Amino acid sequence: MYKVFLTPYGGVNRIGGNIFLLEDSNSKVFLDFGLDFEKYRLYFDFPLNLPKTTSDLIITGVLPKICSHDEKQFFQYCELEKREGKRSRGWNVIETSPDEEFSVIISHAHLDHVANSIFLPSSVPIWLSTFSRLSFLTRYLVKRGSTLYDKLALSTKIKEKGYGIEKLEPEFFRNNYQIFRNNVPFKVQDILVEPYAVDHSIPGAFGFLLRAKDSSIAYTGDFRMHGVAEFFSKKFFEKLSKERVDYFICEGTNLGLNQVRDEKEVESSIEQVLKKFFDHGGEHAIIILSQTNIDRISKMYGIARKMGLNFYVSDEIFLLIYYILSGELKERIISPLPAIVKDPVLDKKARECWPGSNEVKSYGVIAGDMELIMLAEKQSLNCVNENDFSKIPHKSMILLHSLPSMLHRRFLKNSLIIVSTTEHENEEALYDLERFINQAMLVGIPLLRAHSSGHASVIELIEVIKTVKPRNLIPVHTQHQVFFKSYFEKLLNVNVIVPKEGQPITL
Ligand SMILES: [Zn+2]
Repeated sequence: MYKVFLTPYGGVNRIGGNIFLLEDSNSKVFLDFGLDFEKYRLYFDFPLNLPKTTSDLIITGVLPKICSHDEKQFFQYCELEKREGKRSRGWNVIETSPDEEFSVIISHAHLDHVANSIFLPSSVPIWLSTFSRLSFLTRYLVKRGSTLYDKLALSTKIKEKGYGIEKLEPEFFRNNYQIFRNNVPFKVQDILVEPYAVDHSIPGAFGFLLRAKDSSIAYTGDFRMHGVAEFFSKKFFEKLSKERVDYFICEGTNLGLNQVRDEKEVESSIEQVLKKFFDHGGEHAIIILSQTNIDRISKMYGIARKMGLNFYVSDEIFLLIYYILSGELKERIISPLPAIVKDPVLDKKARECWPGSNEVKSYGVIAGDMELIMLAEKQSLNCVNENDFSKIPHKSMILLHSLPSMLHRRFLKNSLIIVSTTEHENEEALYDLERFINQAMLVGIPLLRAHSSGHASVIELIEVIKTVKPRNLIPVHTQHQVFFKSYFEKLLNVNVIVPKEGQPITL
């Protein structure tokens, strides 16, 4: 008999690491192919305990052993092989062609949804949005690292010839990335995939409606109902309400106890704090946020304009914005971006968004890499060494993409740090945060936290499920699967299928 199967290989009963295999007669497609940080951190740690080979990740279960519903292993992950010869410091990537064709669809570029895809053979199409490709791949160009991940991500051509970072070219990378666009359906084997943009704490985030032979399956990816693209989230669920959704694979990150706060509140609370800080002689306001949280970067830029501050960003933030501004995404990003590339249109967009504001006093980049410094200087930006913030002018806003180590850096006396990153920290990240707090207290820099979630609140989640009215609900990306049973099944009468890792669900 004809059947459709869904097998979760990650992202079940936990937040992140989404990998779901959907099989429909001749078609096989993965929804996301993310890294499970919790599993990773059980065995590995930066910088001393890194995985050296793909096998390290397979034996620890960080890369799941994946089979079809009839227990056939249909592909193998790529492995690294050291090149022969005493002098050779290079490596080769060993690839085996998959026994069966399959594809991957990526909802957005957070690593817990995309990072493990670099272990796939180069023939496998990995479908993602333009922004997802850009932001996922930029990190490999900035770091120029030599970890297992870096080696597998970059193409052999690059290893031999080297590369300039001025432009991000698809041929820099080993895998086969395919771009999809909002509302434009595409086929993966026999399944029709309709991508719908949603708001999340990263641009270019998508949910999907998949039309298999006899059933339709919707997948939310990660989403929220506020933010600059909230309109898109609403449209996606309205669209689903008009469809017969047989299976609704839905995230539930914010179940449990969570703060309710939206992006506007984050913006206004930071603005109030900074006004007081600078009015009382503050010199540097350092804000830590994810480099992919473009909307928040934009909001901080708006505050810097309104207050007439200097605006400095870390290398990864600089390069990602630089790539956005020098390509097609420039027109499509909703939030006004800082003009690190000279362009009168950007200033106009910013003036419309923040009336009466002027361009920031000056722009600067905090960088160590020579090529990056040259690129920044070419845009007439100031460059500052990452270990010496005292060279940054007074009255500056400084955006960093990660927690800085404090002890070996020079800071101006009158600095303030605002941590504006996710509150969904796992244990290891909590230790990092604790160390950071201790160091900041020792060095004498006051700290504040301001963040709003990238995910729907419980009330919004209830609304969404009421709107979509699916026949079956499959909870993912949550620590509280039980609530789907106790609330949605009991109160809303939706059948809930609780997924288990590695166990095929017959749809
Ligand atoms: Zn996410």
